[in-house]
Amino acid sequence: MRKFHQNRPSIYAFDPWQVVEAEFRPEYNHRNEAIFSLGNGYMGLRGTFEEGLPSSIPSTPGTYINGIYETEPIIYGEFMAKQPQEYQTMINVTDWKGLKVVIEHEEFSMLTGTLENYSRTLDLKEGVLRRELVWCSPKGRRTQICFERFISQVDQHLAYQRCSVTPLNWSGQLTIRSQVNGAVRNYHHLRDGALEVVSTTHTNESGVMISKTKNSGISVACAVTHTTSPETSIMGSATSDCLDFLARFQVEENQVYTLEKFVAMATSRDVGEMHLGGFVQRLAQRSATKGYALAKQAHVQFLEKFWEDADMVIEGDLALQQGVRFNALQLLQSTGRDGKTNIPAKGLSGEYYEGHYFWDTETYIIPFFLYNRPEIVRKLLEYRYSILDAARENAKRMRDKGAFFAWRTINGHEASGNFLGSSVQYHINAAIAYAIHKYVEATDDLGFLVDMGAEILFETARCWAHRGVFLESRGGKFCINEVCGPDEYKPGVNNNCYTNYMAQFNLRLALKARDTLAGQYPEEFAELKERLKLTDEEFALWQRCADEMYLPFHEELGIHPQDDSFLYKDPIDIDSIPEEEIPLVANWHPLVIWRYQVIKQADVILLMFLLGDQFTLKEKKANFDYYEPRTTHDSSLSPAIYSIIAAEVGYTEFAYNYFLQTVRLDLDDYNRNAWQGLHTACMAGSWMGIVNGFAGMRTSQGKLQFQPFLPEKWQSYSFKVKFKGSKLQVKAAPNQVEYTLLAGPDLSFLHFGQPVTLAQGETVAMSYPSR
Ligand code: BGC
Repeated sequence: MRKFHQNRPSIYAFDPWQVVEAEFRPEYNHRNEAIFSLGNGYMGLRGTFEEGLPSSIPSTPGTYINGIYETEPIIYGEFMAKQPQEYQTMINVTDWKGLKVVIEHEEFSMLTGTLENYSRTLDLKEGVLRRELVWCSPKGRRTQICFERFISQVDQHLAYQRCSVTPLNWSGQLTIRSQVNGAVRNYHHLRDGALEVVSTTHTNESGVMISKTKNSGISVACAVTHTTSPETSIMGSATSDCLDFLARFQVEENQVYTLEKFVAMATSRDVGEMHLGGFVQRLAQRSATKGYALAKQAHVQFLEKFWEDADMVIEGDLALQQGVRFNALQLLQSTGRDGKTNIPAKGLSGEYYEGHYFWDTETYIIPFFLYNRPEIVRKLLEYRYSILDAARENAKRMRDKGAFFAWRTINGHEASGNFLGSSVQYHINAAIAYAIHKYVEATDDLGFLVDMGAEILFETARCWAHRGVFLESRGGKFCINEVCGPDEYKPGVNNNCYTNYMAQFNLRLALKARDTLAGQYPEEFAELKERLKLTDEEFALWQRCADEMYLPFHEELGIHPQDDSFLYKDPIDIDSIPEEEIPLVANWHPLVIWRYQVIKQADVILLMFLLGDQFTLKEKKANFDYYEPRTTHDSSLSPAIYSIIAAEVGYTEFAYNYFLQTVRLDLDDYNRNAWQGLHTACMAGSWMGIVNGFAGMRTSQGKLQFQPFLPEKWQSYSFKVKFKGSKLQVKAAPNQVEYTLLAGPDLSFLHFGQPVTLAQGETVAMSYPSR
């Protein structure tokens, strides 16, 4: 068993609805920038301070717009044919958050004078970030300062800031200086600056800055406007790359002085370039007219509704309660919901992974949204449809047919120059197909299947059928060579078990979609068949590929070999690897990693989960026993999946420990890399750990089924799932599991194989079988 982290000291006090930094420590600033990030799926802002920090303190200021990227040529050390030629890097855009407080002639800084009553709070319920403190300036002026900000969940273009200042022992001149800074750059990945300011315009209270990327040609517009209370004069000015607004107050001791800043962001992806400036200006103006308080109220109400469906309640462990809520909020904040964007691996909380979208979305994060916000899942899948042409081109690049989705991308084209970590992972096609299946199963949205889903299924099936080969040497079976499964420590292998099973599933889904369309939507089917030039021979080939798929199994060991070579690799005791050499990917040459039986992340074990009804409990247990001691979990995507299978096979301690490792990964910064950005897939893994792990939720033949158990240390846990228009609440308590149908049509499901049907408003209490 790998070493678990449960004894690491926690960084933030446990609290059910808040994450609080109670003491400012510059050495933790970098990490806190990610933890205290805000976003609404469209834009994000790291938890940097309004007034900034001296450059001696590690910091990666970041303001991002999902899917807004710069391109740069990829530089290769040596020529290799058909390599991707361009990076796509999510850029750091116009920094709108600047607010400086000047008391007489002393400028507030976290590093001068003294701080009293300091707290920085991320309110999980409200999605608001608040910093409160009393600053005693070097000259002895005591001032209470409160900064508050939120990024609207209601209108994706809008963000809000408020700064309130109360002089405690002085009267005189207070200046609040608000800035919009266009001189921004990326700190990692991009070699050159990406965004150049094209224009700045301003009045005394308002301003607009328009910038443009040099290569990708995307324009970004930012407008701000301000109000003050009590009303005071503001003076606006601008330089070539900065908007500056000075609000001057003549202040009296113990009175409160407030500046509110209304921010609007948009890009040429949203509005034609010519109209961009006017568009953001109007938005900012309108939001100022409506006012901060109303906007905040609407934002909080949005989150109230979100929590109503998405909240998971754990009784008996505050740390985990805080963790799952933090993760849920951050997932919501990270997820594009417009059909044009997706979920960057680090959300909108950092530059790492360059804002790229991976299979993380379909395999890990979609399950979280599917059962509480299925409409978001549709949008995420619409994004995949929007890049289908790019996936077709990617298939051509690899001499394949159909569509091959890029492993790392924003615009649909492969953005990774390391094919051993990217283009070799064909299983992304199956992840997308699988997510389409799950979406349609949970929502019955056949409209999506007809309009977009079937086309993706057909083109990915086409890719698999061409990608594999019927091999005489394997008894005529359909084999898929030179791929990498989820375990990135084994690229370029033949017959990765996970890939073959998932490809088979993908092929069968395509055939099922053909039947659905041909039966229920004959016209649409005929049109699609014609457009994609699909023939009955091709369908027959898919059937044959699926039926004859080579599915590895080792009789003697009773396990599914990860690939053709895995069992013949050098054995290694991974517990003997010194802690400082983990993760191996950062410390060992790839050739060294590849030669060992060492696994980066759940691979066969993930298959045991995703296609669980194709394997017996005995096989799952044997695979767990075999692969668990060989897995380093160097990817944060891994522990949640081990937790789920451990729960299923009855290894409750493993299940619990792997769950712990998932839930507070970022909050406790286990991997010491939270500063780079949050681990979104892992955060979604904590939802899976409870719902699919402890509660054993699966779907089979269009039905929900549960096999819950209650971890020893908890009094209860509960969550809700939306399925086929119904909303079910599941609560696992010490002696029984309570199911309540909160809304929607009657719902039938299985509890440990026993059928249950509930009508709206009904509750049933079921007992646990003896384990
Ligand atoms: C994992 C991939 C994952 C990527 C982005 C890598 O370390 O091995 O499976 O898609 O991170 O999260």
